[in-house]
Amino acid sequence: MQEETFPLHVERIFPETPRVKTFRLRPELGELPFRFLPGQHMGVSPCLSGSEKRETPAKWRHFSLSSSPENRGFAEISVLNQGTASAALHHLSPGDGVEVTRPTGRFTFEDPADHGPVFFGAGIGVAPLRSMVRYCLDRDLGEAITVFLCFPSVEEGLFLKQFRAWAEETPRMDLRIHLSGSGPAGEQPPYRGGLQDPDVLREGIARPGYRTCYLCLPPGLREGVHTALVTMGVPAEQIHAEIW
Ligand SMILES: Cc1cc2nc3c(=O)[nH]c(=O)nc-3n(C[C@H](O)[C@H](O)[C@H](O)COP(=O)(O)OP(=O)(O)OC[C@H]3O[C@@H](n4cnc5c(N)ncnc54)[C@H](O)[C@@H]3O)c2cc1C
Repeated sequence: MQEETFPLHVERIFPETPRVKTFRLRPELGELPFRFLPGQHMGVSPCLSGSEKRETPAKWRHFSLSSSPENRGFAEISVLNQGTASAALHHLSPGDGVEVTRPTGRFTFEDPADHGPVFFGAGIGVAPLRSMVRYCLDRDLGEAITVFLCFPSVEEGLFLKQFRAWAEETPRMDLRIHLSGSGPAGEQPPYRGGLQDPDVLREGIARPGYRTCYLCLPPGLREGVHTALVTMGVPAEQIHAEIW
């Protein structure tokens, strides 16, 4: 990798769901050596040591920053264990080192000029939205904040507790959870039907012509939600989608 890289170390690891961990990364001293915008991502590679370093090529993958840029001292990434590099990251312990690149990407949050942002996240796609929503709350942005989250089950609901706590303490935030799988007996999810249905979206999105939407969804769902939003009157240029 030719890009400028920065050494950080793993300060804390938060197990989030059975397959996702959040890594809090810090420099040895002082503030982060870069700034970032909510929604951006950076290259991350675990630092290899000794013979491991000589024999194994560095595994670089991009990960969205899941913490708010208002925290100048650390950056967090949330990693779904699904293959070579993500499994290597899941093996890290506090104190281990990683290298990262300068954050980049055009899927970034714009300060809301109109009624307020609407966020759509599914599965690990909630990671960049956590950064965006936390940033809105930290800076008191947006007349209204609407968040649609979609998970197979409550157990796999990445940051679900945190989003629920934020919604409870923030009257202007409307959180809508969609569960696609069948939950355990006794669980009563607020199951609201398909996210791709304009009638379902209309319930949660007042003044659609004045909202800016941020989507981090798997292909298929992403296109479906985009079409539904345009159908209900959100201008296409106000819909931003991250593509992994
Ligand atoms: C802009 C951007 C932001 C991203 N943000 C995040 C983020 O915040 N969090 C996150 O977790 N990821 C994120 N990703 C994805 C991440 O960069 C990696 O692509 C992801 O972690 C998989 O890398 P890996 O090395 O673990 O998997 P790889 O080893 O590269 O495998 C990729 C996929 O192929 C499957 N696979 C591999 N080998 C086989 C096989 N033989 N047969 C069948 N299937 C196979 C794996 O299960 C895996 O799903 C982002 C990607 C981009 C581009």
